[in-house]
Amino acid sequence: MRDAEVCVVGAGPHALTVVSHLLTARPSLKDGIVVVDPSGQWLSTWREQFGRLEIGVLRSPMVHHPDVWPGSLARFTSDHALKRSHLPYDPPLTSVFDSFCSALVDQLQLDSMLCAASVGEIQTERHGYRVTTSSGSFQARQVVWAGNTARPIAPEPLTKSLGTDSIKHSSTIDLRNIPSLDGEHIVVVGGGLSAGHLILGALKRSAQVTLVTRRPIVERNFDVEPGWLGPRFLEGFERQRNPERRFQMVLSARGGGSMPGWMCQRLESEIDAGHLAHVVGSIESGNISGTGALELCVSGQLLEADRCWLATGTRPHFCADAALAHHVNRQVDGIPVLRQDLRLGRRSMYLTGRLAAIELGPAAGNLWGARVAALRITRALTGFDLRDDALEEPRSRILIGQKG
Ligand SMILES: Cc1cc2nc3c(=O)[nH]c(=O)nc-3n(C[C@H](O)[C@H](O)[C@H](O)COP(=O)(O)OP(=O)(O)OC[C@H]3O[C@@H](n4cnc5c(N)ncnc54)[C@H](O)[C@@H]3O)c2cc1C
Repeated sequence: MRDAEVCVVGAGPHALTVVSHLLTARPSLKDGIVVVDPSGQWLSTWREQFGRLEIGVLRSPMVHHPDVWPGSLARFTSDHALKRSHLPYDPPLTSVFDSFCSALVDQLQLDSMLCAASVGEIQTERHGYRVTTSSGSFQARQVVWAGNTARPIAPEPLTKSLGTDSIKHSSTIDLRNIPSLDGEHIVVVGGGLSAGHLILGALKRSAQVTLVTRRPIVERNFDVEPGWLGPRFLEGFERQRNPERRFQMVLSARGGGSMPGWMCQRLESEIDAGHLAHVVGSIESGNISGTGALELCVSGQLLEADRCWLATGTRPHFCADAALAHHVNRQVDGIPVLRQDLRLGRRSMYLTGRLAAIELGPAAGNLWGARVAALRITRALTGFDLRDDALEEPRSRILIGQKG
């Protein structure tokens, strides 16, 4: 393993966004970046999660993607005559987003910086860090943590049976491996878009489905109000310097799951057709009988089911990865308190993703957050501000959008 100027932990969309920004600002960094991910591939977790839940379209708009220039995904789509979703705000199709990211990886020749390993320990040294991975160790002057470090959330009464055939978290469900659910009753828990995709997947396989949510379904195009992606809400957030209060602002802005209008309409028509039931309430108990049948009590109502699928999300927490845990001194409920440039304390370890929410706001984990984090980290590591209006898109990047 070679020593590196920058070690990036993880090869998801956040890592890809940081690397594309760093190389745009300073192309000579290319041989100095090592990206460590167990898959040895770019975006494997992202592709896996979209594949498992059969998600055909993103939730975020076309301008949110890992390249530096916001218009490049739209241009890629039109130049290659690729299909569009025609949904409100024009979110890209999953296949188009994947092709675009592959083109970006090819153009910047990013495969050569990948190392197929898991980071197990990061020790502080005089001039940087010693990064110990499952396939060896190396030195890095700076570390960017893009590991999406989180724990699954499950309703308390179901935690002891989680992971059995009867009760699964959405992060472990693979619809592609389930050919049919004919004659089965599936209970899907959660009011977010993942719950919607699981419901559509179960209905497609001829199941009878009940959706359980704690509150009536909230309709929202994005998972946070668009005001959080610009000055409308972020100016007030930035004025607030108290990390605890910022954390509370993040919590109330995210406020549980929501679904875009098109998914709400699909579910309403399934309810009208009698294929889907919706129960609003809290799960009070869950028992699996000797025959494997599941009995759930939802706010006093008994539901018998064959399987329960939890689309209840994950909670970011720095302690979920031991390699990160001992580097964090200040935190609020598992979210580190970072400097404005996303550094952890005075040393040279930077964070991107949901763990940067106290600095970036409630959309930190999304592709929008990846872009804002990449700008800040790039400025800190290279001194180059890619927000500078004078930055022109180089001709070579325009090739990404051209046929052939
Ligand atoms: C179903 C679903 C759909 C989503 N759709 C959208 C959307 O349309 N638009 C949007 O903006 N956001 C969306 N999001 C939110 C967010 O953009 C994604 O979760 C995205 O994958 C986050 O990117 P990431 O790079 O932080 O994490 P990941 O994609 O999870 O990548 C992190 C990588 O780090 C690796 N890693 C972790 N720990 C280590 C370690 N110790 N050593 C080495 N590697 C490590 C992991 O193996 C993983 O490959 C969606 C989320 C989900 C769950």
